Amino acid sequence: MTHLNNKLIDRFGRTAKKLRISVTDRCNMRCIYCMPVNNVDWFEQENILNFHEIIRVVRILADLGIVKVRLTGGEPLVRPNLPSLIKLISRIHQIEHMGMTTNGIGLQTNAARLKDAGLQSVNVSLDTLKESRFKAINGVDGLDKVLQGIQVANDVGLSVKLNVVVIRGWNDDEIIEFTELSRKTNFTVRFIEFMPLDGTSMWNNHLVVTKAEIIKKLASEGIDISPLYNDYSEPARLFTLNDDRGRLGFIPSISEPFCTNCDRIRLTSDGRLLTCLYEKPGTDLKGLLRNGKTDEVIKSSILDSIKYKPEGIIRLIRTESLRARMNLMHRIGG
Ligand code: SAM
Ligand code: SF4
Repeated sequence: MTHLNNKLIDRFGRTAKKLRISVTDRCNMRCIYCMPVNNVDWFEQENILNFHEIIRVVRILADLGIVKVRLTGGEPLVRPNLPSLIKLISRIHQIEHMGMTTNGIGLQTNAARLKDAGLQSVNVSLDTLKESRFKAINGVDGLDKVLQGIQVANDVGLSVKLNVVVIRGWNDDEIIEFTELSRKTNFTVRFIEFMPLDGTSMWNNHLVVTKAEIIKKLASEGIDISPLYNDYSEPARLFTLNDDRGRLGFIPSISEPFCTNCDRIRLTSDGRLLTCLYEKPGTDLKGLLRNGKTDEVIKSSILDSIKYKPEGIIRLIRTESLRARMNLMHRIGG
């Protein structure tokens, strides 16, 4: 197929500008909303893209208009030599920003090297501030390590945001504490609605704590917030706390899906291009990379896939077809 326009534009008119690269499906945590509890079926090592292959795809995508990259996983910091990959990506001149989403366990020891390699920001997942609860939600002990990691990341000059997946009955009683944490530290705390991308099949609509509910809860505690200017291509709706410090974000993937403004695509660690979190199985770029195909052939395959990017979760909600475990977050990269 020939492409009149060498841009990553889909049939709904959305243009992809951001790439999330899952560098591994492996993880040193077992968050209840993400990983299967037992018997995790990891990708075979030989099926994981090497750095040379990842860079080749990023270069092709950068030529097609990608300007921001986020490293994710699984846990990106369990991938050996990650700073080398960051260095290689930071040399691609079209890439204006590189961030990483991490569970924070490895930040304390790695933050300085990541920053030196060219990383600019980290979104750190933190679902509870109670040590006794951390293991129940995240599967391991580690609250102190994560808190120290956040501090070190900030100290070395990485821009830090905190991500909280709010699940009814698990951590929705900590919304005020997280708000106070934002006031105290000035980090943006982003509350994420639980999505059906869980390995445990626990997801149901009742467990989702919506943006509207959280705002109501804050108001009932006398905490006023005001909307900030929002870039609607970003998933987070941002608010200031009405005193001088702190900022909250809401990622309302279920109650106010943002599919119409989606500008993201994903590369999985086993080399599939996913144009949507809910796409399965995606386009096998690894096969093309390992079968000697030229950049032009790979580019053409990418442009074809983009064209057919699904409408997104918005359609699944409209057709009432959301159910648990629609995809596995640790495999696709959140
Ligand atoms: N291991 C890293 C981490 O936890 O930050 C990066 C990968 S994780 C899959 C990326 C993000 O997805 C995290 O912020 C995590 O909280 C979020 N996430 C995972 N499963 C989710 C789900 N079912 N619904 C909403 N967010 C989810
Ligand atoms: Fe691991 Fe992140 Fe999934 Fe938690 S959310 S199990 S830290 S990949």
